[in-house]
Amino acid sequence: MPPKFSKEMMEKVIFPDRLEYQPRTSPCEAHCPAGNPIQKAHALVKENRVEEALEYLRCRNPFPGITGRVCAHPCEQACNRKEYDDSLSIRALERFSADHADLTRVARPRRREGSGKKMAIIGSGPAGMTCAYYSALLGHDVTVFETAPALGGIPRMAIPDFRLPKDVVDREVGRVLETGVHARTNTAVGRDIGFDEIRREFDACLIAAGTWKERSLDVPGAEFSLPAVWFLRQVALGRRDLIGDKVVIMGGGGVAFDCAFTAKRLGANEVHVMCVEGETNMCASMEDIAQAKAEGVFILNSRMISQVLHDGIKATGIEYFQISSFEFDEKGGLSVKPATSERNTIPSDTVISAVGVLPDLGFLDGKEHFRFTPKGTLEVDPKTLATTVDGVFAAGDIVSGPATVAEAVGSGRRAAIAIDRYLVNGRTTNLGLVRISDEGHVVVEDSASESEPHVVAYEEIMNVDHFEKQERRASERVPPGVSSRSLEEIDRGLREEHAATEAARCFHCGHCTSCGCCVEDCAGLILAMAEDGPRVAYYEECWHCGCCRIACPSGAVLYEFPLNMLV
Ligand SMILES: Cc1cc2nc3c(=O)[nH]c(=O)nc-3n(C[C@H](O)[C@H](O)[C@H](O)COP(=O)(O)OP(=O)(O)OC[C@H]3O[C@@H](n4cnc5c(N)ncnc54)[C@H](O)[C@@H]3O)c2cc1C
Ligand code: SF4
Ligand code: SF4
Ligand code: SF4
Repeated sequence: MPPKFSKEMMEKVIFPDRLEYQPRTSPCEAHCPAGNPIQKAHALVKENRVEEALEYLRCRNPFPGITGRVCAHPCEQACNRKEYDDSLSIRALERFSADHADLTRVARPRRREGSGKKMAIIGSGPAGMTCAYYSALLGHDVTVFETAPALGGIPRMAIPDFRLPKDVVDREVGRVLETGVHARTNTAVGRDIGFDEIRREFDACLIAAGTWKERSLDVPGAEFSLPAVWFLRQVALGRRDLIGDKVVIMGGGGVAFDCAFTAKRLGANEVHVMCVEGETNMCASMEDIAQAKAEGVFILNSRMISQVLHDGIKATGIEYFQISSFEFDEKGGLSVKPATSERNTIPSDTVISAVGVLPDLGFLDGKEHFRFTPKGTLEVDPKTLATTVDGVFAAGDIVSGPATVAEAVGSGRRAAIAIDRYLVNGRTTNLGLVRISDEGHVVVEDSASESEPHVVAYEEIMNVDHFEKQERRASERVPPGVSSRSLEEIDRGLREEHAATEAARCFHCGHCTSCGCCVEDCAGLILAMAEDGPRVAYYEECWHCGCCRIACPSGAVLYEFPLNMLV
């Protein structure tokens, strides 16, 4: 069997993430929860075609300016280039396309003809708004219900401005609304409109309400501490009076660090983050921990608060002890083993508890038979995100528990396709192929391969010498001494002059870039270059020498049995 070539994605595909003619893929794409077409975007940024890069990204992710700032970038940890010199700045390149594209030149996909079907979405976070965007493009009449006064969920209401400026959220949410999505803000389902009314008025419904109920510390005086997300939300709404000079935050995740950075910027002099985890297994990202240390935040590991001290009006400090181990039960409840009976105290003006969040599904009135997981999240079919109630789907944190923006985007997009299939065909199986045609129309075809492609490992790229070793260009950050005193965005992004050279470092693992190396090195001259890349010109003549495989700098050549020992 002569070689096959796994080609770069040339179509704007909304679903599925991979196509039949792409039997191989890269680790970065395999690890991106949003499903970004990373290599295609890199190929376009390399040629300074930033508007097209953004068009491709938006086929899968309406929020590249948000994920390009706050995603924990699992793609970069998986990048093959790190074995050669350093991983690509994938997140910064994603943000670059979102920030630098001339929006007047970015093509807008045209909505499919109206289906006459009405869809309700509860919650305007990344999951709800992603589903709203693709559902509107698929021709449905979408209404989003949101408790808060503004759309955007946690990225709008809780992630601090200095990590994610609100104008970025507004810009990307605005693009969703341009598709004709109706939004009803200040409207809590269960308070301002009943879930049963939504069920009566709409043909299908997505629950994307996130996890907004905050766990409280189970210790005396806990009522004098501020819940973390509530605190961040108040600051996002403009309050500046909640912080004193000394602040203690209980919790070791990203939310605790957001509170610490916010406290510093609101003028606190002494900020402590205390958590049960040890130094090496904290939930927060290495970036957050490094930033906190650089800004002078004190981190106290393997410690637990025993009580919040108070004067009857407000917190005055905490009492804590050292622990030797801890564990969470299946409902997320914490139990700790003290290392000593000794108790210490830290005087403080403010105590913030960042000890986790839970779903709040009180608005489901109990008349319908939803199933829940032990963590209190909604149970869904993992493929279609259908709940156990006909016509009701769920996506984002309400299904996964507290997760990430990119995961919420990925699940919102999958939910849109499943709901479309339900509304059009009355069934959610065979999710099909959804793409944007050359004329910009959204097209749905019934058959598409959902088989998982082979993820190309570094060792499979035999001609890495094709690439010169080159320094990674990363985004620039405001120096810690300055950042801790300013509300300016900490991460300034990639410099304009670095973007194309950084994108050019990409190996395009598993995808043919039509470089021609395989054709040049084919000893039997059986390969030829066609307009869309290499092809086997003399099928019968191939003697399977593997020269093309060895010559390919992208690991894009595939052999099938009996020659798979070369793959
Ligand atoms: C402080 C903080 C910082 C974070 N930082 C990051 C980060 O840096 N990177 C990252 O990837 N992830 C981060 N996350 C996690 C990320 O924001 C979430 O995983 C993501 O927003 C989940 O999206 P979602 O759409 O499921 O829910 P959400 O974003 O929570 O949106 C749900 C929406 O539903 C609304 N809602 C709830 N109940 C109702 C109701 N009854 N009626 C109407 N509306 C309702 C809520 O008001 C909210 O707007 C952070 C989370 C927090 C709390
Ligand atoms: S969304 Fe996250 S994982 Fe996906 S490309 Fe962007 S940074 Fe990487
Ligand atoms: S080199 Fe490029 S294609 Fe390969 S994993 Fe890294 S970013 Fe992805
Ligand atoms: S060598 Fe070049 S042209 Fe041939 S398959 Fe690999 S990337 Fe494509």
